[in-house]
Amino acid sequence: MQLTNRSKVVSNKVQSTTEKMYLPGILKGMIITGSHLFKRKATVKYPDELRPIASVYRGQHVLKLDENGAERCTACGLCAVSCPAEAITMESAERKKGEEGLYREEKYASTYEINMLRCIFCGLCEEACPKEAIFLTDRIVDVEYEREDFIYGKDKLVEKINKRIDVSKRQTKEVAEFKKLPGLKHNEVWSGKQINKEKH
Ligand code: SF4
Ligand code: SF4
Repeated sequence: MQLTNRSKVVSNKVQSTTEKMYLPGILKGMIITGSHLFKRKATVKYPDELRPIASVYRGQHVLKLDENGAERCTACGLCAVSCPAEAITMESAERKKGEEGLYREEKYASTYEINMLRCIFCGLCEEACPKEAIFLTDRIVDVEYEREDFIYGKDKLVEKINKRIDVSKRQTKEVAEFKKLPGLKHNEVWSGKQINKEKH
């Protein structure tokens, strides 16, 4: 019984002398190759040349500092829980006296790692973060030779104080406003001995 009509009829026809020399096939191939010489190239000479990418491209992550230069991440673990690839791991630590300028809240991530080989750049970590701490950026993850070099720690993830990364295009205005609502628990900031609500 014939289920589809996609079957191919195989012919036992004896090849002609020209066909035996593969000339028609070679000529056809050369014409196709030659025609591509005059077409626009589909490839770029990466890394010397970069393709233009959208400002909302989901590439290498950044851990943001706040306006005073303190780390925003409070090691709540929501990004790790939301990550479908289980690419994020972290350890938390308690902020000590005198470290207020380094860490925004009383708890911070002493280690924070993302395995870039596992990451599928879905952006769910960014959406889950209540502290506006992690964002994906338009940077492309570097090529490495060793697998362990793809595990990015805080040295590669935390933005530099003198080299801020603009992530303003990453979120819709509505989401940014929602995350700032003073009534939400995650907007409470540790200040001295008291937890204060942020004023907006
Ligand atoms: S972008 Fe997606 S896969 Fe990558 S670390 Fe974030 S949640 Fe995980
Ligand atoms: S969700 Fe945000 S604040 Fe929480 S651990 Fe992840 S990056 Fe840090």
